[in-house]
Amino acid sequence: MKNKQNLKGLTLPQLEEFFLKIGEKRFRAEQVFLWIYNKKAKSFDEMTNLSKATREKLKELAYIENLEIAQVQVDSESNTHKFLFQLIDGKKIESVLLFGNKRKTVCISSQVGCAVDCGFCATAQMGLFRNLTVSEIIDQLLTIERDFEVKVTNIVFMGMGEPFHNYENVIESAKLMSDEKVTGISQRKITISTSGVLPKIRRFTDENHNFKLAISLNATDNETRTKLMPLNAKWPIEALLEESKFYSEKNRNKITLEYVLLEGINDSIEDAKRFSKWCAEYNCKANVIPYNPTNSDYKRPSKEKIERFMAALGDKYASVTLRDTGGKGIKAACGQLAVEQD
Ligand code: SF4
Repeated sequence: MKNKQNLKGLTLPQLEEFFLKIGEKRFRAEQVFLWIYNKKAKSFDEMTNLSKATREKLKELAYIENLEIAQVQVDSESNTHKFLFQLIDGKKIESVLLFGNKRKTVCISSQVGCAVDCGFCATAQMGLFRNLTVSEIIDQLLTIERDFEVKVTNIVFMGMGEPFHNYENVIESAKLMSDEKVTGISQRKITISTSGVLPKIRRFTDENHNFKLAISLNATDNETRTKLMPLNAKWPIEALLEESKFYSEKNRNKITLEYVLLEGINDSIEDAKRFSKWCAEYNCKANVIPYNPTNSDYKRPSKEKIERFMAALGDKYASVTLRDTGGKGIKAACGQLAVEQD
């Protein structure tokens, strides 16, 4: 592949530039764009409206990178599919497909590993290897849609990695995903979830994106949050809440505060009341996700405790949702598959 250009991950203007550079007509770029993203072609041979000579020329100068599915696990209760993808350098990442009543949601990874080091997260134990390219990010969606013949309705960047540590590639791939010629998934159905990388939240606000934004809060005091998520020492809760308010005032969209509920750590009545108050005060939505145990010491609260927490949280001031996750049977962890499944 050395010296060859990977065409997957390129935008239409980038493809046009490539085609002009190799002496081809501009309109060929759109044909190839549609083949890669809309028809999900994995090779130039599938592109039957290109002449054989053009296809041969493309094979010489370019390639289409494809993820390989190394493993698929299916949770029989929820039909949740967890995919292990192998990348071109042999590294592995995970994506998850969740079925709701009307939704088919894919949970996308943005990095190989992660540097944030959240205590409850399986990915954190890997450390960070590298950022994913735009090609590797978007191909999680393309491969699942193609190989499993499913039309995805919602995307969440909640898989492996901190999306805002790979900001440019995540935004670029989310824009591609929402291109009408690609999947047509509206930007409001694409959620980017951050552990709270404050400068990037400000950048996201300033750039006025229509994607939804979520912050993984997970505690109502700084001591607990710093233990769970060390980056809280740098960007504490108060700063995140202020930033959320700024975002909602500027973009007229609410941020969702995610809250992974952990037995004996953040599941008290006082936590629930503080959380509810903040949602009202800072104009946020709450999304509570009972923990899916991984190989950490943290535990999922009992059903009674979850109900007690939700009752204390209430929905008077905040828009509150309890998201149980479909991945318990397949050890879905990391972002805890915190997606809307109604
Ligand atoms: S929960 Fe997300 S941000 Fe935290 S370590 Fe895991 S992958 Fe990184």
